[in-house]
Amino acid sequence: MTSPGPDTSTIVAFERCPDYAPAVVAPAVRAAVDAVGGIGTYVQPGQTVLLKPNLLTDAAPEAAITTHPEIVRAAIRLVKEAGGTCLVGDSPASVIKHERVWERTGMRVLCEEEGVELITLEQGGAREFREERQVFDIARRVLDADVVINLPKVKTHVMTSLTCAVKNIYGCVPGMAKAGLHKQYFNAADFGRVVASIYGVVRPALTIADGVVGMTGNGPSSGEPTPMGFVAASADGVALDRCICRALGLEPRAVPYLPVLRRRGVGEHDERRIRVVGVNVDNLVAGPVELPNTLRTRLVPSWFARLFAPLLWCRPAFSDNCVACGLCVRTCPADALTQEKGEKPLLAPKQCIECCCCHEVCPAKAVDMQLSPLFQRMADRDKCLR
Ligand code: SF4
Ligand code: SF4
Repeated sequence: MTSPGPDTSTIVAFERCPDYAPAVVAPAVRAAVDAVGGIGTYVQPGQTVLLKPNLLTDAAPEAAITTHPEIVRAAIRLVKEAGGTCLVGDSPASVIKHERVWERTGMRVLCEEEGVELITLEQGGAREFREERQVFDIARRVLDADVVINLPKVKTHVMTSLTCAVKNIYGCVPGMAKAGLHKQYFNAADFGRVVASIYGVVRPALTIADGVVGMTGNGPSSGEPTPMGFVAASADGVALDRCICRALGLEPRAVPYLPVLRRRGVGEHDERRIRVVGVNVDNLVAGPVELPNTLRTRLVPSWFARLFAPLLWCRPAFSDNCVACGLCVRTCPADALTQEKGEKPLLAPKQCIECCCCHEVCPAKAVDMQLSPLFQRMADRDKCLR
C-alpha cells in the first residue's frame, strides 16, 4: 500500500454538496480530493485500488445507511484518471445475501456502468493479525490492494457513537469473523481497542466521506436520514473523524476507538494541528444533532461500568414494528435470542453481551437499545445539564 505525501497528511477538506446529482457530486469530490493534494498523490498508474464503501446492509441509497453510489462513482472516475484499476468491495452483514446488498444499494448497477469489479471481501481468504494482544482477520483482497481508499458514510452509532472513517475499516474483517470479534471484545472499550487495531493495520491512503445525507440518532441503521450537505476528504481518517465529532457535537471520548488511537499515536488528534479547508467545521451541520440514546453508556469509565455491571446495562427491546424475519436471532453472536414462528424475538438478558448487532441488522427499526433505570437516570440528568 502507498503512503500519502507528508504535506497533505493533516488536511481535512470539506466541500459543500447539497444533493446526489452526479453533476453536483463529481466536482465536490474532486475539489475535496484536490485540496488534500489531488488523486495523483495517492494513486499511481498501474496500481490496484480497493474502494471500500460502507455497505452495511441491503438498504436503498435513500435510507442513508450505505455510502451513496454517486460518491463511489466520483471516486472510481478519479482513480481511473490517475491510471489506477478499481475494485469496489465490502463485507456486509453475513446474515444478508450479498447479491441482495449489491442490488439494493445500487452498487451492482454502478459497477456495471463503470466497468469495475465488485467483490465481497470474503473472497480470497484472510490473514490473521496479532496486535496489542488482540487477534483478528483482515481480508486478503484488502491487503493485496496497492492502495485502499475509504468511502464511509457519516452516521451516529449506538455502539461506537460515530461511524465514519475509522469504523468503516472494521468491514475489512471478513464475514462471520466480525461477529466473533463482537463476542470476544464485547464491551465498548474493548471493541474500540480492536477497531483501533484494525484501522492501524489497514491504514487507508485516503478517505472520502459521504456527508451529503448522513444519519443521526440511533444509527447505524435505525436512525434518521439527515441532510448535512458535504463531502470530506483527508489522508488522515482520525483527523477527519475528530472534525466530524466536532460538527455533530460529539465528545471524541465517547467514540471508543479515538482515545485508543490517540494513546497509540495513530493519526492527528490535536485540533490546532489539523488544517481544515473549505467549510468551517462549526458551520458544517445546521441545527442541533440528535445523538444515540446510548451515548451516556459510552461516557462511563470502563472500571465503573464493570463495578456496577448489574445496574448499568443497555439491552435490546423489540417493538411491534417487528416483521419476524429472524435476522437478529441469526446474527446474535451470544445466542441470546430465540424466536417462535411469526413472533417477536425473546431475549435471555444474562446472555446478552450488549453488542448491538441485532439493532444493526434489523430491517424494520424494531430493535431499541434500552438503558437500565440507573443509566437512564444518568442520561436524563445529562440532558438537564445541557
Ligand atoms: S426485531 Fe427486526 S431483525 Fe429481529 S425478527 Fe423482528 S424485524 Fe427481524
Ligand atoms: S441480543 Fe443483541 S445486543 Fe444482545 S448479544 Fe445478541 S445481538 Fe448483541
